[in-house]
Amino acid sequence: MKIGIVGLGLIGGSMGLDFRSHQHTVLGVSRQQTTCEQAIARGVVDEASPDLSLLAAADVIFLCTPLHALAATTAALVPYLSTATILTDVGSVKQPIVEAIEPQWSNFVGGHPMAGTTESGLDAAQPDLFVNRAYVLTPTEATPAESLETVAHLARSLQSQVYYCQPAEHDRAVAWISHLPVMVSASLIAACQSELDPDVLNLAQTFASSGFRDTSRVGGGNPELGLMMAQYNRPCLVRSLQAYRSQLNQIIECVEGEKWSDLEQLLSQTSRDRPKFVDNLQK
Ligand code: NAP
Repeated sequence: MKIGIVGLGLIGGSMGLDFRSHQHTVLGVSRQQTTCEQAIARGVVDEASPDLSLLAAADVIFLCTPLHALAATTAALVPYLSTATILTDVGSVKQPIVEAIEPQWSNFVGGHPMAGTTESGLDAAQPDLFVNRAYVLTPTEATPAESLETVAHLARSLQSQVYYCQPAEHDRAVAWISHLPVMVSASLIAACQSELDPDVLNLAQTFASSGFRDTSRVGGGNPELGLMMAQYNRPCLVRSLQAYRSQLNQIIECVEGEKWSDLEQLLSQTSRDRPKFVDNLQK
């Protein structure tokens, strides 16, 4: 199959490495000529160019640009496509993206591979990034069934677990487990940095160990990605942040008021609930 990828960064570059290793021909488009040259040199793509016309020959095109560029990229791409060309995107937010792309190209399948690292750009691309990760597809009534199956098949070939849901359901779910954690983790780093005594701050930075590394990881990642999650998934994120603030208030009340049994009950409950979110993850 000829697979096109627009946006040769962490996600697009990682897909290119995997699809090429499965004997597909990968055609890549990225904004910068130097990225295109590096992508060919690294074996991420067979051919690359900043010119979208390269993708006229592709059977399936993965849109892997930052969220804000997905709709405009589609508009610029449409003149080169034949009706059989399947477009799919990897954006972390689905409802506004599906609503923006579907009217432009009906042979479209919304998607979101739930994999990433704190790095960005082509240098961060790596093989097997999607292995054992969820790959969510968000078809609508307008999505052609055959195209949906083709994208699902390609996602499974990355060794991802494919799930289906509506775009709006996706956005509510990822607000809880992906977008809220970025804001919580960023708040943790900012709160620690607010220590006024430079000696104590220095000690805290020196003592920070694996617990802090784990809880601060997603708040210390690509700022552009966090900003776009907030801009594109605003109502769902605000709802999750408000729920989180209310939980924090409850904990403050417990600690300030020395309500140790209430706190113990809350922590016992969270200890029982955590596996419901993480037990499906294979390390
Ligand atoms: P990234 O590493 O920054 O890669 C995106 C690349 O796209 C950039 O390196 C840039 O390459 C290129 N680009 C930017 N604007 C472009 C344009 N208008 N036309 C063509 N290429 C353009 O970002 P990413 O983390 O891979 O994220 C890409 C998409 O994946 C986003 O929509 C995001 O929501 C989604 N996603 C991200 C993650 C994650 O954890 N990172 C996970 C799942 C899904 P050059 O400027 O070097 O050419």
